[in-house]
Amino acid sequence: MAICIDGKRIAGEVRAELATEVRKLCEAGVQPCLAVIIVGDNPASRIYVNNKKKACAEVGIRSEEIALPADTTQEELLACIKALNEKEDVDGILCQLPLPSPLDDKAVIAAIAPSKDVDAFHAENVGHIMIGDYAFLPCTPAGVMELLHRTNISVAGKECVVIGRSNIVGKPMAMLLLHENATVTICHSRTADLESVCRRADILVSAVGRADFVTAQMVKPGAVVIDVGMNRNKDGKLCGDVAPEVAEVAGYLTPVPGGVGPMTIAMLLKNTVTAAKRRLENF
Ligand code: NAP
Repeated sequence: MAICIDGKRIAGEVRAELATEVRKLCEAGVQPCLAVIIVGDNPASRIYVNNKKKACAEVGIRSEEIALPADTTQEELLACIKALNEKEDVDGILCQLPLPSPLDDKAVIAAIAPSKDVDAFHAENVGHIMIGDYAFLPCTPAGVMELLHRTNISVAGKECVVIGRSNIVGKPMAMLLLHENATVTICHSRTADLESVCRRADILVSAVGRADFVTAQMVKPGAVVIDVGMNRNKDGKLCGDVAPEVAEVAGYLTPVPGGVGPMTIAMLLKNTVTAAKRRLENF
């Protein structure tokens, strides 16, 4: 039976370390601040924003919510971001995605000052991640790396397979694994013979978004399986991409909920603290 990698516990450790750093920053006169923009009334976005604000409060980061109506125009949204870019006491800015139509996610990401882009979605920060010289962590992939490190799972020389090639998960995940000297394969919907590619993996990361997508036949016995997926099963219960039977084959497995999800938020907090440290250095 696979060993469960407890993301909730590990995220708690990270948050406790960040709380100490935030206390020191506050003593030096800088309280980290994260501005969160939410447009419209998407219930999932509301839950994500509330969770992020709660996590900020837990470590002593001030959060500022900017709730805009669904009929906000592109110009109004960009003006809001511009104002936050210029606000000295705001360290990080995130705009909860997806935005209601016809707002343009890409233009919004490009408008956030790279120095405040704590989601690390801006092309400038993506470029830094690609080069391997970056301050802002890509939150979900960095959360996965932190889970591996704190479980003493080494990556160097391992065969790693990432299923999914999105800009926010799959691609940066592959980069971080590569930076740590893994041999990395990225799979997607056009990959031929996905099952046999996945079976090669010592570390298999699934970021697809489909319940029960990763089955036992796709997993090498003893492999580390990281489930990034966040889906609802037919009973409406939160689940990942990995079928329950995989626990019989894998060596390690992250649960959903309580695996990668809490780590993503912890890495967002870490990025906000990094931005605040930079503000202190520039005092
Ligand atoms: P996405 O942009 O929809 O990407 C999904 C990827 O899966 C695509 O690259 C797609 O391939 C690939 N895919 C779809 N069907 C496939 C198939 N049959 N075989 C192989 N690959 C297939 O999603 P995302 O934003 O990366 O998110 C993925 C999942 O992670 C979602 O469930 C999301 O909710 C979750 N997520 C969780 C966290 C967290 O903190 N836990 C954070 C972010 C996302 P193509 O490119 O060829 O279409």
